[in-house]
Amino acid sequence: MIFHVLTIFPEFFAGPFAHGVVKRAADAGHLEIHIHNLRDWTSDRHKTVDDRPFGGGEGMVLKPEPIFLAVESIWPERKPDHKVVLLSAQGRLFDQAMANGLSRESALLLICGRYEGVDERVAAHLVDDEISIGNYVLSGGELAAAVVLDAVARLLPGVLGNECSAAFESFQDTGHGEGLLDCPHWTRPAEFRGWKAPEVLLNGNHEEIRRFRKQSAREKTMRFRPDLVG
Ligand code: SAM
Repeated sequence: MIFHVLTIFPEFFAGPFAHGVVKRAADAGHLEIHIHNLRDWTSDRHKTVDDRPFGGGEGMVLKPEPIFLAVESIWPERKPDHKVVLLSAQGRLFDQAMANGLSRESALLLICGRYEGVDERVAAHLVDDEISIGNYVLSGGELAAAVVLDAVARLLPGVLGNECSAAFESFQDTGHGEGLLDCPHWTRPAEFRGWKAPEVLLNGNHEEIRRFRKQSAREKTMRFRPDLVG
């Protein structure tokens, strides 16, 4: 899958994708990440990407022209499986089902807003979807784009060491808990500061372990996310 990110802070992305699963997947050719500087699609001396809001008020708004020009030049022929997403506090709430859906596209272009936001004509006439990563306001779309990209990338074939491992994570409707949280995990030592790992996980009985994990996933979900229990 090919990811494009459009931002006024391209250097922001040197960090998030330089480590771990996403970096390894990019190195192995399972995905490509292209970071684009929105200012490359401006034509004035100051590389202006923002302007004052019509109607007055605080702050600045990202102008539509550079964003439209950027998307049209990155994808001169946009195909149906080329999705454009605007990161926005006003968007649909991102979840695992949306990540699953996006992982089936061939390319994804993420637009990062800044300041007071983005001229509404971008949401109305350019993007396929407007996505929020939570009910809070961030200073820019870059952190949100990194979150979406990471969540989608780990679902791509070959990205996780074991093809099945994404199926057993929280929110997936496969695995231990039909859309519940993942079960809790323990590792060595079997006893740490007097706290023991559950005996059942040490006895090698796969059926008992499976049942214990299903039950503990359910209990944890009831405790922290009762909204997920049907
Ligand atoms: N005035 C906007 C509002 O109140 O909804 C907030 C703009 S915010 C300071 C600037 C940019 O950060 C947004 O254009 C968006 O790209 C990004 N952003 C902020 N919160 C976000 C969230 N919860 N999810 C995704 N992107 C977010």
